[in-house]
Amino acid sequence: MKCEHCDIIERRSKIEILYEDEEVVVAIKDLSITPGQITVFPKEHFTILEGVPENILEKCSLIANKIGIAVFESLGSQGTNIMIQNGLGAGQKVPHFAIEVVPRVENDGLNLTWEAKQLPEDEMETAFMTLEQGMKELDSSVENEDDGKEGSNKTKDKSDKKIAKEDDKDNYLLKSLKKIP
Ligand SMILES: [Zn+2]
Repeated sequence: MKCEHCDIIERRSKIEILYEDEEVVVAIKDLSITPGQITVFPKEHFTILEGVPENILEKCSLIANKIGIAVFESLGSQGTNIMIQNGLGAGQKVPHFAIEVVPRVENDGLNLTWEAKQLPEDEMETAFMTLEQGMKELDSSVENEDDGKEGSNKTKDKSDKKIAKEDDKDNYLLKSLKKIP
């Protein structure tokens, strides 16, 4: 799959790399919302946020935060919008997870605000109940993962389970990028 971010990492692109280590790359793209917009992404190709391992996500977040501080000091910005476009439905253009740091000044003409509207009570209730159930399922799947880590001697079971999980994960990633329920 053609990936603009992998092209940057492999120096197949004109885009400048501002910083890189073994895991994370920071680049200034030529297509920006405001001058000095910075893109932080993992070196390994992860399609969406849900696929990024916790330690890599943590590192990307810390670096994005540091970039935000650098932008305040060097570009004189008055604020930053830190954005993740996660999934096609959310406007994700490159299929490689990234955090965008957008320097802002007052009245820069960029409109990233949205009007919140009052939802009807039944819609709110339905959303709440659906999400509450979803959170419970998430909780129990996290607990199960922890159980797996607490060393058991059922090694074969565990590796079978892991393979099944990997398959699920691939499906899940594809569905998630397209936001298919
Ligand atoms: Zn990539």
